[in-house]
Amino acid sequence: MRSAPGLTHVIGIINVAVMVVAVVALLVLPFGEPAGEPAGEVPVRPRGGSAGERGPVAPRGDGAPGVRATPEWAREIGANEMGLVPVIMYHRILRKRVAGIDRTPGQLRAELERLARAGYVPVTAAEFATGRIDIPAGTHPVVLTFDDGNPSHFALGADGLPLPDTAVRILLEVAQRYPGFRPVATFWVNHDPFGFRDRERQRAAVRWLTERGFEVANHTYGHPDLRRLSKKKVSEVIVRQQRLLERLGAPPSETFALPYGSRPKKRSLAHDGSWDGTKYHFDAVFLAGAEPSVSPYAKSFDRYNIPRIQSNGKNGECRKWCSQHWLEWLDEHPRERYTSDGDPAHISMPQRFRGKILAKLRRLTVVY
Ligand SMILES: [Zn+2]
Repeated sequence: MRSAPGLTHVIGIINVAVMVVAVVALLVLPFGEPAGEPAGEVPVRPRGGSAGERGPVAPRGDGAPGVRATPEWAREIGANEMGLVPVIMYHRILRKRVAGIDRTPGQLRAELERLARAGYVPVTAAEFATGRIDIPAGTHPVVLTFDDGNPSHFALGADGLPLPDTAVRILLEVAQRYPGFRPVATFWVNHDPFGFRDRERQRAAVRWLTERGFEVANHTYGHPDLRRLSKKKVSEVIVRQQRLLERLGAPPSETFALPYGSRPKKRSLAHDGSWDGTKYHFDAVFLAGAEPSVSPYAKSFDRYNIPRIQSNGKNGECRKWCSQHWLEWLDEHPRERYTSDGDPAHISMPQRFRGKILAKLRRLTVVY
């Protein structure tokens, strides 16, 4: 199991700070540099209970750590780990929107707060796609994904904190307000991640994020439409980005997002290939539309074609395809939504999902 070093630390800092803030008022933001150097720490995965027991997202304090799911427990919680998971896709976060897919800081904040209030807990794209979903009983996973490494996603100010109105700052502020809302997200980046030209600043950004449990992964070097490229060129733009991320100290990318959601003519090149003597492999490939994903434990889960939902209201084409629509739909169809049993070692589900799980996972099921 891979871990998210530094994350538990950040959550701890945030929880402590929330208590302090209650007394001192909101002056100091609690997510500066971690006090210790995470590299030397024993990596500990955030346990469900520690991440969520205080927040409004965890309805029960008697959940993890140490939950062993039983059919009675799973029924009581309404656990359904075969349910649907929203993977939300963001692009630029701009005070004045230019394109239809841009969101304002206020819109991002409102959406994240809505998710927190509805009992969602973020997991990264890699955690989701590989089934490492360890969140408190009764909560629902959500995957927050930001494409293209835009400057509006992340930048550090002179005070060492993410700049106001960047995606990361907003996410951390929402997590501060809703302590069960684990502040992690996935950034799929191209060359010049987050708009930095300078290698050292790129490296510092990648380090800051990955030390805190964020995922920074491959979105090709130059963001071409892969369908229009030769096989060799497809592999080249992926390998060039892989080499860049490696130089910047990012862990090997487990996931890949297709630029424009456009697949190469030879589909498998989106996840396996080689160029100039360098191989690549991704565990999961993400598309650009347009519905919630099935559970990663389902037979029908297609790890190389995982749908995402564009963050947007309900105008025009978004009436049925974007986040406002789908989040309302999931609220109205709670039995279809993924709800955790709080036990990462077992997969709980109602009877009607029993036949849908991958055969190799059947021994882990708890059915009610
Ligand atoms: Zn893109």
